[in-house]
Amino acid sequence: MPLKGYEATLEDFRPMQERCSNCLGCKFVPFEKIKSHRFGRNCPSVWYHNFNTYSARGRFQLGQTLQDGYVEWGGQAVDAVFNCQACGACDIACKITRFNLEPLAHNIALKERAVEKGLAPPELEAAVRQLSGRKTMLPAVKKEDRTAWASELKLKDLSAGETAAYAFFPGCQYAYNPDLQSKARLQVKILLNAGVDLGFFGSGDMCCGGRAKQMGFRKAFEQEAGHNAKIWTKVRGITIVTPCSDCYHAIKRQYAALGYTIKVVHTSELVGELIKDGKLKFKKDLNVTVTYHDPCHLGRLGEPFEAWDGVEKKVLNQIHTWDPPRPRYAGTCGIYDAPRKILNAIPGVRLIEMERIRENSWCCGAGGGCGLFNKTYASAVASERVAEALSTGAQTIVTGCPWCGINLKAACAENGGTMGVADIMDLAAQSLL
Ligand code: SF4
Ligand code: SF4
Repeated sequence: MPLKGYEATLEDFRPMQERCSNCLGCKFVPFEKIKSHRFGRNCPSVWYHNFNTYSARGRFQLGQTLQDGYVEWGGQAVDAVFNCQACGACDIACKITRFNLEPLAHNIALKERAVEKGLAPPELEAAVRQLSGRKTMLPAVKKEDRTAWASELKLKDLSAGETAAYAFFPGCQYAYNPDLQSKARLQVKILLNAGVDLGFFGSGDMCCGGRAKQMGFRKAFEQEAGHNAKIWTKVRGITIVTPCSDCYHAIKRQYAALGYTIKVVHTSELVGELIKDGKLKFKKDLNVTVTYHDPCHLGRLGEPFEAWDGVEKKVLNQIHTWDPPRPRYAGTCGIYDAPRKILNAIPGVRLIEMERIRENSWCCGAGGGCGLFNKTYASAVASERVAEALSTGAQTIVTGCPWCGINLKAACAENGGTMGVADIMDLAAQSLL
């Protein structure tokens, strides 16, 4: 059966499992981009667990042996399947090494099979159970409080029949997290001040479902995506603007794979355009040295979905190939420049880059739901990023995703609290408002 990207199941990945050459490029930053031995690793999973099965290569082997019945589903196999951040660093490295293998999609197909077998960690099951009822995976929040963050704003309610060019979609963290709600309001104020025709979906605002997909809960994701697409497409020509990289990726890549064509921009893209058009002017000098952390789902995984309807073939009855070639998501067209342009435009902000940046960025540790069932691992991955940020001499790590921000902030506190964490829009707001 041909792979068509989204629809693929574990069995469809057999040619990739067999074609993986054990080169182990998926464990490292592509060699020509490595700047030091200290920060040369790219896969948080195998870095932390120090066992090959926790790498993309190891999971290709695991998938094959599980399919062939040499390994039983359960125990260590399930642990290896779920302790993957779905960060996609392996995918980029493998594209450079092998051109057309897709270890990230295979990792997620493994998770999906484990979910079907009822083997997902109970913490993930519990989080996803909330989705159908409360429309969020965040614990201890009520659906009726979802719009509280916007109560003092006079935003057009697009669920109630009003129309706008853009809909602000905060994502669950900005909607519910008390530390972030005021920041969501500031972002909306910046956009409104610049004259953006902006609304939001009011009572129709829900979780994007993207994190459920990363965790292997495909059906739950499809349910949320279908629900949102139905509401959003009622507003003709709407563009979703979101400050969350997971929402951005879900809508841009995963919704498109389901056939829902919805325009989406990250807040940094829209603000970048407004600066370029002279509609936003920075006022205050911030006098701060920062480094920028590329969120995986905004950067390397932020490329648009490309449909593929080809067949898998063998050359010399041995080497698997695909005709036409499958889309090559190498991360090069992700969102890297928009946030950096904003940083460079704010007076007094000095940007120093880390070693692992852009498509080779190190994950913040929060991906794939790992922080829900293996906090020690998620925290170690974040601490590794903080160590890299500290090595630059910067005072603050700036990012463009609330999930990254929360995980990095916790790691900074654990590492002595000498480094601050800010969202790109926090800094912009400090200078603009
Ligand atoms: S997605 Fe990230 S954590 Fe998972 S195997 Fe690839 S590099 Fe490692
Ligand atoms: S880089 Fe790709 S081909 Fe090489 S070992 Fe990793 S998954 Fe296999």
